[in-house]
Amino acid sequence: MPLEEIKERMRQAEVRAGRDPGSTCLIAVSKVQPLQRVTAVLESGHRVYGENKVQEASGKWPDLKEAFPGVTLHLVGPLQTNKVKAAFELFDALHAVDRSKLVQKIAGQAQTAGRCPELFIQVNTGEEPQKAGVHPRDADGLIEEARKADLPVAGLMCIPPQDEEPSLHFALLAKIAERNGLSGLSMGMSADFESAIAQGATHIRVGSAVFGARDYG
Ligand SMILES: *Cc1c(COP(=O)(O)O)cnc(C)c1O
Repeated sequence: MPLEEIKERMRQAEVRAGRDPGSTCLIAVSKVQPLQRVTAVLESGHRVYGENKVQEASGKWPDLKEAFPGVTLHLVGPLQTNKVKAAFELFDALHAVDRSKLVQKIAGQAQTAGRCPELFIQVNTGEEPQKAGVHPRDADGLIEEARKADLPVAGLMCIPPQDEEPSLHFALLAKIAERNGLSGLSMGMSADFESAIAQGATHIRVGSAVFGARDYG
């Protein structure tokens, strides 16, 4: 079972980093995966999942949540303002909050709903033009704006550039979190979660290592 192997690797990385075993949350990213793979992991007892699209998640998770009580669902991909309401209905945490307009829309929906998912501010640590996330120099301002709107900011999130050493990006994210007094760090994927744990990740987002390769065909 790959899940057990990943948990063991997580424990070892936590111990190497002098952290408590079990202190990192494993978000199993189930996007694009066939339902039977997702069901198998649910049946093994895992309850924390991630999706990157509101629409795709809306198609499968309402039924799965009913069949497997206790599921926590994280939106790890970008969120459009016109999907905020739907996202509130489905997700317990939103990981790609990256602009003022979205913060304001979330604040409005939080007022209406009387509750709000946990938020992670996505930082574009590689300053890549095509990638979501607030520019590192604008991160403090966006965090402050979200806090002023009374939103539950749990921490920061990043996706390092493909061709760069991820640990440098994890370290930068940890630094921005620390100077803002934030404890949550959503960083690390299948290829680099041990390095992320070494740098203090509280949430790792692991897809293919849990479920197998995604088939986009
Ligand atoms: C798909 C995805 C992941 C998981 O990627 P793997 O490489 O399969 O572990 C993590 N984070 C985000 C934002 C994703 O979209």
